[in-house]
Amino acid sequence: MTVITDALCPFCGCMCDDITVAVENNKITEVKHACKIGAAKIMGHHRIKAPMMRTDKKGDFKEVSYDEAIEAAAKILADSKRPLMYGWASAFCEVHKKGIFLAEEVGAIIDNTATVCHGPSTLAVHEKGLPSATLGQVKNRADVVVFWGSNPVHAHPRHMGRYSVFAKGFFNEKGRKGRKVIVVDVRKTETAGMADEYIQVEQGSDYLIISALRAILAGQAAVVPDSVGGVTKEQLVKLVDTLKAAKFGAIFFGMGLTQSMSRYKNIDNAISLTTELNSFTKFVITPMRGHYNVTGFGQVCAWETGYATAVDFARGAPYYNPGETAANDVLTRKETDAAMIIAGDAGAHFPADSVRHLARIPVVQIDPYWNPTTEVANVVIPVAICGVEVEGTAYRMDGVSLRYRKLVEPEHPTDIEILEKITERVRKIRGD
Ligand code: SF4
Repeated sequence: MTVITDALCPFCGCMCDDITVAVENNKITEVKHACKIGAAKIMGHHRIKAPMMRTDKKGDFKEVSYDEAIEAAAKILADSKRPLMYGWASAFCEVHKKGIFLAEEVGAIIDNTATVCHGPSTLAVHEKGLPSATLGQVKNRADVVVFWGSNPVHAHPRHMGRYSVFAKGFFNEKGRKGRKVIVVDVRKTETAGMADEYIQVEQGSDYLIISALRAILAGQAAVVPDSVGGVTKEQLVKLVDTLKAAKFGAIFFGMGLTQSMSRYKNIDNAISLTTELNSFTKFVITPMRGHYNVTGFGQVCAWETGYATAVDFARGAPYYNPGETAANDVLTRKETDAAMIIAGDAGAHFPADSVRHLARIPVVQIDPYWNPTTEVANVVIPVAICGVEVEGTAYRMDGVSLRYRKLVEPEHPTDIEILEKITERVRKIRGD
């Protein structure tokens, strides 16, 4: 038996790097220190065993060779006038690079899972920047922590233990006792149940509440009404006092802020609040990114194309305009005539109209796992699991890049190998 220590978990944006894995005969037999969802991914489940194809959407899958599946995938992309290549968040940066290259080759729109989670955060960061910090700085310094529209107990189970709430740090030796934890949310989540203060807001009123906090912070409390979004003025004034009194404050925001009314303007406003708090003390703000390498796609896409997401190569040069070029924009307009879904699950997370359109057009799925996207796919190509069977680079939610090791030898080809072969076949089909 081999014991691998300090392995990284390839599930959520926390990218916990203290995992111990036992390996016997190239099989992972035990995972220690990971949370349940992380351990489940490392142990493996619902793997697709072999490439599969169906001739029409209603037909059953039949197993085919990798060569046949790659040829079919290349033909779908080469024949398409408006291909979409979506997903990427559960794969490494090295995979993203190959994917962007293929997208340019076929004139596709390339978009990632941020389109249904933190895409609005990206837009806000364009406008305002991001006064942020590493999770290590938060662990070592933060004495006031705000979770706004995020529920780490469920979505990032070890975030509070490793970085933000219970962790003891260099300047915070008391851990939980040395921190004030505030949760702002529409309902009393499990995270709210563990907070020192829970502020319940009315659905869709986050922008108003942040604006009220900024007014109070600016010494203009007189303009704030007695109640804003279900929160009393007294509570708001108290909250501003707590934030100002912090030695080092950290706001972690989730999809309760990015995907509720006002969307990217909520984040824009929250970033402004954070910037203004820095006139009084040190304050930082960080998005709670979901898939472990969704941040990495934004990085690679930005350095390769100039834009972080929703990039359209139809003109031969990168063009970006979320609202027009994001995955769900082209799907709900029924504009795209073929799709490749890789390392993301559009079938599970997209609106019904988008999934209905995916069910009508040829879809190539590249993924280790059987998931709802498989149900609308014509060609399915199983691959090795990044972070378990493949080594590579990913970016944690705070933008720190870390290197994953291979824990076991793969039985399937890697995403990179498949993308390279598809690109090669596309070029041959098109006579390039
Ligand atoms: S918190 Fe996230 S990264 Fe850490 S073990 Fe759980 S799923 Fe993995």
